[in-house]
Amino acid sequence: MTVEIGNFIGGKWVKPASGKYGESLNPACTTDVVARYPLSGREDVDRAVEASRKAYAGWRLTPAPRRGEILFRAAEMLLGRKDELGKLVTREMGKVLPEGLGDVQEAVDLAYYMAGEGRRLIGETTPSELPDKDCKSIRVPHGVFALITPWNFPIAIPSWKIFSALICGNTAVFKPSSDAPLCAVRLVEILEEAGLPPGVLNLVAGEGELVGESLVQHDGIDGISFTGSCAVGEKLESLAARRHRPIAVEMGGKNAIMIMDDADLDLALEGVLWGGFGTAGQRCTAASRIVVHEGVHDRFLEMLVNAARRLSLGDGLKKETDVGPLINERGLKKVLDYIRIGREEGAYLQIGGGRAAEGTLAEGYFVEPTIFSRVSPEMRIAQEEIFGPVVSVIRCCSFEEGVRLVNGTRFGLSASIYTGNANLAAKAEREIETGLVYINASTIGAEIQLPFGGFKHSGSGHPEVGGRMGAIDFFSRIKTIYRDYSGRLQKAQIEVP
Ligand code: NAD
Repeated sequence: MTVEIGNFIGGKWVKPASGKYGESLNPACTTDVVARYPLSGREDVDRAVEASRKAYAGWRLTPAPRRGEILFRAAEMLLGRKDELGKLVTREMGKVLPEGLGDVQEAVDLAYYMAGEGRRLIGETTPSELPDKDCKSIRVPHGVFALITPWNFPIAIPSWKIFSALICGNTAVFKPSSDAPLCAVRLVEILEEAGLPPGVLNLVAGEGELVGESLVQHDGIDGISFTGSCAVGEKLESLAARRHRPIAVEMGGKNAIMIMDDADLDLALEGVLWGGFGTAGQRCTAASRIVVHEGVHDRFLEMLVNAARRLSLGDGLKKETDVGPLINERGLKKVLDYIRIGREEGAYLQIGGGRAAEGTLAEGYFVEPTIFSRVSPEMRIAQEEIFGPVVSVIRCCSFEEGVRLVNGTRFGLSASIYTGNANLAAKAEREIETGLVYINASTIGAEIQLPFGGFKHSGSGHPEVGGRMGAIDFFSRIKTIYRDYSGRLQKAQIEVP
């Protein structure tokens, strides 16, 4: 069934000013049109920003614990509808159902966490150097946020941004990906039902260049949170800089798993399969480079190729499916282009390498799980984000060389090391230049109570999601207050005994 969705502005579901709609397709079966979404324009953005500004006056003064209660109710509702929403995630963007359910669970976890944060939002108090004076720093909201999200975590990523922005007292205009707009709508409906006042959260769907850029450049926007590709994120950073707006960008990755010669290879194999082929490789933290010590390289490669051969491709709603489709035709073409580039560069294609189109697979955007060996670090397939089920295996001859390879791209999001040596694990933790480092685990598996963000070209360098040091620090501003109750002019630094 196709659902026609609207924009959500000032507490009402409305049609776009253009009257035009785009289509969101099920990537496992492209004749299944999941939703018709508004192709919005500047006029819709203006109205949404105006509604957010109006609502901000009341929302910023709503006690944070009360804001938290709304999020708590949303958490309960998300949990109650987890099964339905998980299936929608799978239908709209293709990941296998257990991952679709995980997407929703992440939103549940975050909603509970941020509901609790409503009773903390902790600042600091310190003694003053002067008598009869006290000082403190408090958190205050920024104002209206533009929240721009990708399609690959269509419930989780919007939740990271929305719940964190709202608990801090901001209002927001949310621009979801056109590849997963129905998931976004369901999330907003839940917040509406949980009691969010009109205008606190607005949704405007449409094409990124028009809706996203209009939002980022809008005079009524006070801060921007973007997750998506490097090309778009870097452009938005420069637009925001001209207006002195705080912006957080979480972008791509070229994540590596390092396997030492003392590693538990069975454990590492599970981690590589999960990191490389989970979500069909369409995670910012996907493991697309596997750096293997020469002592175990050949054995591990054989284990990996044999295991990848057994992965079953298909619709993520089917129990037997391990790997779902790519998101759209553009994604499919990009991945097939990289496979061609890898062959031209001289990497050895161990397995896969083509579109999978037998039987019902022809209805969707499926690519065979693909493994290249004999990959050298300067090849494009070892340097650029592919965003598909393509894994490059790179040989290394020492821990030091392995770390150099892991660090040798412009990205710095996630990395992992498999080793039985506690000292090497500790050194890896120190030397690897990524925002997330895993020891004896895959490159994916972040938890919501800790900051999540990339180094180098993977992000703006200050995580905007996860925990207090990530989300709360980004979505609130610090105001420092000095209160002098001495009744006379006291001069700091000057009145020294
Ligand atoms: P994308 O950059 O194409 O789109 C992301 C969002 O930005 C969408 O809502 C899109 O409509 C909007 N957009 C597109 N062009 C725009 C413009 N000119 N101005 C403003 N907004 C614009 O990315 P995608 O294909 O949706 O997602 C995949 C990318 O996201 C990958 O690179 C992946 O690594 C990255 N990602 C990063 C993280 C992270 O936390 N680091 C998480 C998930 C995905």
